[in-house]
Amino acid sequence: MADKSPLRLAVRALSKTYGTGASANVVLQDITFDIREGEFVCLVGPSGAGKTTLLRCLTSLMPASSGEIQLDGQRLTRPSPKISVVFQEYTRSLMPWMTAERNVALALYNRKLPKREALALSREALASVGLKGAETKYPWQLSGGMQQRVAIARALVTQPEVLVMDEPFASIDAQTKLELEDLTLALQRSRDMTVMLVTHDIDEAVYLSDRIIVLSKNPATVQEIIDVRFGNERDQFTTRASPLFGELRSHVLSLIRLTQHKQGLSPA
Ligand code: ADP
Repeated sequence: MADKSPLRLAVRALSKTYGTGASANVVLQDITFDIREGEFVCLVGPSGAGKTTLLRCLTSLMPASSGEIQLDGQRLTRPSPKISVVFQEYTRSLMPWMTAERNVALALYNRKLPKREALALSREALASVGLKGAETKYPWQLSGGMQQRVAIARALVTQPEVLVMDEPFASIDAQTKLELEDLTLALQRSRDMTVMLVTHDIDEAVYLSDRIIVLSKNPATVQEIIDVRFGNERDQFTTRASPLFGELRSHVLSLIRLTQHKQGLSPA
């Protein structure tokens, strides 16, 4: 990913306060950062810092209190078809009474495509996440990892330019999680997508990111933005075993510990 790639997302002086008056809770304060086309950016920070709040603002699921978000130079004021979201809770985001292919096709509902065409696109998206053969299975017939693959296929079927993922692998077993991380990297490259992923797993952030944004807490501000210079050649064995990986992990961990120390919180 070249540093000179065009800007995709620009977050400018974003603040979010929940409640008003005496019960006002300033969660995000003056958050500013850029994400360039084709970048993989992870957002980390202590639990309760405001990561999910920031993603909700980024995807226009919730208005910010002040500041703005621009997508390709245009101010974002409503959910954009260029942005797809994958949530942590696949059990709640998939419809249990619909087969995998119908769950994926649901994302095309607004496009009013003929049913046959929507299902063909849905099957293509399922194949791209390794679920060829599972098209007519119901969510309850699939493992957790496979259900999250269905949720990823549903996010991809609309051909988004930006994929936003909120702790997508937090409820997945350790081995499957590594597979899904590699799948996400491969999809990002093959589809030339920009990815913004929230995680509380520091190793995951270091493994996946081109850059890591570390948030502080109460209120969340951008504590540091860290370049991760592994390039495109990453694998779960050599990358994680490299000295650079260890250095980055320790650095991110120390930033988060520092925030927790200032807050008088115990480590997560
Ligand atoms: P994170 O994702 O980093 O764990 P969240 O964005 O979920 O953090 O929450 C940040 C803070 O905002 C927390 O103090 C939480 O209680 C508060 N919060 C989150 N959602 C709401 C809401 N809908 N109304 C009021 N407060 C909220």
